[in-house]
Amino acid sequence: MNPDPPLKSEAANTHLPRKVRGACPHDCPDTCALNITVQDGRVIKVQGEVEHPTTHGALCTKVSRYPERTYHPERVLHPLKRVGPKGEGRFVRVSWDEALDDIARRLGSIAQRDPQAILPYSYAGTMGLVQGEGMAARFFHRLGASLLDRTICAAAGGQALMLSYGGKVGMHVEYYAESRLILIWGSNSIASNLHFWTYAQAAKRAGAKLICIDPRRTETADKCHQHIALQPGTDGALALGLMHELIRNDWLDHDYIERHTEGWPALREEALQWTPERTAQVCGITADEVRQLARDYGQTSPAAIRLNYGMQRARGGGNAARLIATLPCLVGAWRHRAGGLLLSSSGWFPVDRAALLRPDLLGGRTPRTINMSTIGDDLLRESSEAFGAKIEAVVVYNSNPVAVAPQSGKVVQGFAREDLFTVVLEHFLTDTADHADYVLPATTQLEHLDVHTSYGHTYALINEPAVAPLGESLPNAEIFRRLAARMGLHDAALRDSDEAIARCAFGHAIDFDTLRERGWVKLPLPEAPFAEGGFPTPSGKCRIQAPGVEVPGYVHNHESRASTPELARRFPLAMISPPARNFLNSSFVNVRSLRDIEGEPLLEMDASDAAARGVRDGAMVRVFNDRGEHRCRARVNGRARAGVVHGLGVWWRKFGVDGRNVNELTHQQLTDLGRAPSFYDCLVEVEAA
Ligand code: SF4
Repeated sequence: MNPDPPLKSEAANTHLPRKVRGACPHDCPDTCALNITVQDGRVIKVQGEVEHPTTHGALCTKVSRYPERTYHPERVLHPLKRVGPKGEGRFVRVSWDEALDDIARRLGSIAQRDPQAILPYSYAGTMGLVQGEGMAARFFHRLGASLLDRTICAAAGGQALMLSYGGKVGMHVEYYAESRLILIWGSNSIASNLHFWTYAQAAKRAGAKLICIDPRRTETADKCHQHIALQPGTDGALALGLMHELIRNDWLDHDYIERHTEGWPALREEALQWTPERTAQVCGITADEVRQLARDYGQTSPAAIRLNYGMQRARGGGNAARLIATLPCLVGAWRHRAGGLLLSSSGWFPVDRAALLRPDLLGGRTPRTINMSTIGDDLLRESSEAFGAKIEAVVVYNSNPVAVAPQSGKVVQGFAREDLFTVVLEHFLTDTADHADYVLPATTQLEHLDVHTSYGHTYALINEPAVAPLGESLPNAEIFRRLAARMGLHDAALRDSDEAIARCAFGHAIDFDTLRERGWVKLPLPEAPFAEGGFPTPSGKCRIQAPGVEVPGYVHNHESRASTPELARRFPLAMISPPARNFLNSSFVNVRSLRDIEGEPLLEMDASDAAARGVRDGAMVRVFNDRGEHRCRARVNGRARAGVVHGLGVWWRKFGVDGRNVNELTHQQLTDLGRAPSFYDCLVEVEAA
């Protein structure tokens, strides 16, 4: 008898359409509530839930096509075993028994020698607490595998908020509708924070001024009153220049600074060095832009900042986020519910990590930590005293590192190692899955239970399974449960059902049955959370400088004309790689209708840079630096400023013109805080291909 019978979902076949409550699992701040229509055991429609306050019935184009993704003809629906060379993507179908027995045997034998030679690799392919790390973390903790530092997207800004505010906390998104001034800083909200944009538009209709601060002239910049196109990685300098003007003109809330911040005098001295002229020179803008922005920010109330993670993808991203996060304290914007700043709201959620992730299963062991952003180098390291054991096995879930990790030439080389045992839990044969020894079919959000936090609003949500798992696919948690059993790991924590994990995720803070009944639960938070200080720091104050917390300052890029002039002579263009509008990181690239909208990999260029290189709009170009090269189509569309190019991502390599993508050019140097990658801190040259 098969010891692991297929999962049967509660979702029963019925001829009448029925509605199921869901939550969008993707790496997007909006975490929409989904209204899923099921008929005859099949999802026929995925819509935004009308009653959920921040979703208000609308989804982005990507997720409104979710049935197309779930029922995609290329969906992996059975366990697969590699038969061709790594990277070629040739597999044969095998049974779950065969796959799990072999994986358990091989991981078990590595674990016997040194469990740290096993590396879990995951990120935000699903943001769900159950199918994300819920059971996976327990499994790897019990094994004693290497820990993974999950830094690839938000670690610099996250660490900045932790240092300054004491947590990843900020404004309620709803109240942006009442703001009189909104700085949309490092965010193409129309593409990647759509529901915030709805509130920003409401504010605009009510007379608010919207200013977009972004190197790229994004779709969002098009719709704002003003666009400030600064050089990539100079956001911290701009914040210091604003402070200079706030001080000089005394547009400061001295009472708020006195009572609710610590360490301002040290930063004040530094800010006084940043005249509008110096700021303008570093940021590549005009001194008048600095003065006007400071005047708007210092004299408009309530003023709100929507900061997003784009701006922290440079060497100084962490310090820049800290400097920007200080601004609302200086003008007392936090006094109003429509004032302040939002980078992330995830720290408001009462997640019981000890119960969910069970670090106690480490049993006192302290495995080394591998940074996911340096996977390219780390997969190529031999055993050493400093590094520890060579990585012998990688288990990838909820991530596609071959496409998304920096310096992909090295990442590919690492995953192509013949002596590396690779298991990938996936929906599709991604670039990473093509390198796997086994690909295990995972369920999509429509087929499993989960609970969700958000990093853009303050509602916890539930996702009910709408239909039974397709083919032989299984939820991630079930795959790790079965693997644990095969490896003889019988701890009760490794047998918990998905519902048991979901029930413990928020402890007693959010009642699971209420969540199940209503679909979402609003966190009980004050409307203006820091009107009277009360930051979650030991002192309750915003920390500008405090014991163990250094005063933030401007940190220049790893690669720029100022910091690496010799490199800049050979590679004079600064490249950023913001997401293409119809993809979400590397998700959805294989959804034909979305890929058709994007067309092909693009490089946006300023007309002067294109002309200097004899490149016409629509021409094929070669983008290159010392790390590699990538071919794509030039788009001279007015979105790039002179000296900066935009390689829109993240295309799967296999869909690229030359089997590569923009990460061929990015590097593995880390940010000042959070050990995150500095994707947008990269010099390249371009020539007609
Ligand atoms: S990707 Fe974002 S905007 Fe789109 S449905 Fe998901 S949460 Fe909503």
